[in-house]
Parts: sequence; C-alpha cells; structure tokens
Amino acid sequence: MTQAKGYAAQDATAPLSDFSFERREVGPQDVEFDIMYCGVCHSDIHQVRNEWGGSVYPMVPGHEIVGRVTRVGASVTKFKVGDLAGVGCMVDSCHECENCKKDLEQFCKNGSTSTYNSKDKVSGGVTYGGYSNKIVVDESFVLTVSDKLPLNAVAPLLCAGITTYSPLRHWKVGKGHKVAVVGLGGLGHMAVKFAASFGAEVTMLSTSPSKEQDARKLGAHKFALTTDAAQLADLSSYFDFIVDTVSAPHDYNQYLRMLNTDGVMICVGVPPSPTEILGMNLIGNRRSIAGSLIGGIAETQEMLDYCAEHGIVSDVEMIAMKDINEAYERMLKGDVKYRFVIDMATL
Ligand code: NAP
Ligand code: ZN
Repeated sequence: MTQAKGYAAQDATAPLSDFSFERREVGPQDVEFDIMYCGVCHSDIHQVRNEWGGSVYPMVPGHEIVGRVTRVGASVTKFKVGDLAGVGCMVDSCHECENCKKDLEQFCKNGSTSTYNSKDKVSGGVTYGGYSNKIVVDESFVLTVSDKLPLNAVAPLLCAGITTYSPLRHWKVGKGHKVAVVGLGGLGHMAVKFAASFGAEVTMLSTSPSKEQDARKLGAHKFALTTDAAQLADLSSYFDFIVDTVSAPHDYNQYLRMLNTDGVMICVGVPPSPTEILGMNLIGNRRSIAGSLIGGIAETQEMLDYCAEHGIVSDVEMIAMKDINEAYERMLKGDVKYRFVIDMATL
C-alpha cells in the first residue's frame, strides 16, 4: 500500500475537504503515477451531491487525470517511469464480454469500474478518483499522453473530450452536416471544437448571451440564445444533429423541433430528473433521440492522438485544490471558461 492524500466529500451536503487514504500496491499490470492536473466535471457535482443516487462516502471525485509515471509493474509494456499518462472515467472492466471485445468497455456487460464512487473489484473497497496526488491503475486503462500539448489543458480531454468526440464519430458527423451544441460548458466547448474540426456547420444554443463571442472563437458558425424565441424561429427543422450537454432539467421538445428529416438529438448531459417528450416531436421528420456514454479506451486514445495532431485542447481556468467548493458554485451558475482544472501541486 502507498499512502495518498486528496480531497473528499464526507456526505452529500458537506464541502470537500482534506482526506488521507491508501492506494493499492503496484501489481504486475499496474501503472502508478503522480497526478499533476485533474479536470472538474459536472458529473463530480452530481455524484458528490448524490443527485443520481447511490453515492458512497467518503468520495474522492475526479476523472480527468494526467500525470507522470512513478512506478510500473513487472508485466507493464506500454509505460516506463517518467512517461506522461492519463486516466479518464474508467479504471477496469471484465475484458471478456462482447462489449469489451468490441472496445466498448463503458458498456461492459459485467460492469466497468468507474474511476471513483464505484466498487473496486481489486481491493474490494471503493474507487477514489483524481482529486488526489497519486493513482494506481491497470495499464490497459491508462492512456498515452503526448508531450506536444499543454498538459493541464489535456486533462479535460479524458472525459469532456471523449464524451463529445465519440458520438460525433459514431454518427459520422462531418462536412455537409448542420450540428447544434446545447450548453456551452466543459462538454459543450469540446463538442464545438470537434464538430467544427470535422467540417460541420456548428450552431451554439446557449442560455448565456455573454458566451456568444467565445462560442464563435471556439469554432461555432452561428449562435442562438435559447431564451429568446425570435432567435430560434429560423431553426425549426434545421439541424441534422443536436448534441445536448445540459446538466440541469430542461425542455427537450424545444430542441427536437429543430431537427430536420432523420435528425438525431444526442443527449450526453445527465440531468438528475426525468423529462417529458411529446411523441409528435419524434414522428414529424422521423426524428430520433439518443444518448452516448464517454467512449471506449481505444477510442479515447484515438481522440487524444487526434488532438495532438490537430492542436486541440480544452480552454481551462486553473484552480488550487482548496478552491474546489467555490468552483462547484461557479459551475452551477454556468460561470466557467470552460473547464476548471486543479493544479495538484497545490494539494
Ligand atoms: P458544465 O460545464 O456545468 O456545462 C453545462 C452547461 O449547460 C452550462 O454551462 C450551461 O451552458 C448549460 N446549462 C446549465 N444549466 C442549464 C439550464 N437550467 N438550462 C439550460 N442550460 C443550462 O457541465 P459539463 O461538465 O459540461 O457536463 C454536462 C453534463 O454532461 C452533466 O450532466 C454531466 O454529468 C454530463 N456528462 C455526461 C457524460 C457522458 O458520458 N454522457 C460524461 C461527462 C459528463 P449555457 O450557459 O451555454 O446555457
Ligand atoms: Zn466527466
């Protein structure tokens, strides 16, 4: 065992605070690394506050993790001490089911192990995430990180990046497509960057007038304020795809009506409560509504390599570990440009 320290939530209402715990001994297949940066995902808030149910405390959140390798097990082939490494939302899966064999570990039939707030099949306890100084993970769930990009801005690619890259690739979004991104936050700003990079016409649908200029800088060709009906009037039956990244309850029907024939609304945001969908909005234009969960490990590596090749990173605001509670409050107000990243040197 190795002693580790981090920040944890002790229950659904307490602010996060100092926490000491142990990481497992480095096994033959394991990579241990010092965490240098960890992104702050809205899923961290949902889980810290038990908005999805089933949260386990103490909880050390964090699943956008990058750092430098400190130890490797005897059978490890992909990494050596001193290499950069990344870990996203998963740290384990069964490797044997039909989905794992198709590189879809996020849909492992036997349950993939989340990076935090998940039963740890190795230790028998609970997994602890990236708001901490070190982590030990099976090498098959550790990603190779390029040294060409600023490492702090790479961290959010491990969740916000892959969660938006994966559905855009799955639905083969590219030249000739009209794509809307709903919500300009961590996921939303990566969706804009990727959709624009893949050649689509991108429209930002936002509740924040102050984000228009940024949306355009990030690559959006158009911007519409969703609280202003006049700005939405021309968008009826307009889009081929809508990527909905909104974290709070909202009306899906408003967006479904903006889909053209055979259009797909791809939901990646996970509001804590159910929503009503009017059948009429699906049958017209033969529309579909779909969801997408992060991406498999091979696809996450493909995304990181694509970003290294095309110079794509997240737009980040660096924070110290002690500022995490304030950062959560700002995120809830939509006040982040566009991902908080914790500098672990401040832990
Ligand atoms: P975030 O940075 O907080 O961004 C969410 C954005 O949604 C806000 O910036 C805001 O954008 C918009 N929004 C917030 N409240 C709204 C409301 N009441 N009505 C309309 N729009 C609202 O969050 P994130 O980290 O990108 O995560 C977004 C969601 O994706 C979360 O639910 C998270 O759990 C989920 N998630 C899913 C996956 C997956 O695998 N599917 C992976 C990671 C995260 P505007 O100011 O532009 O309106
Ligand atoms: Zn996330």
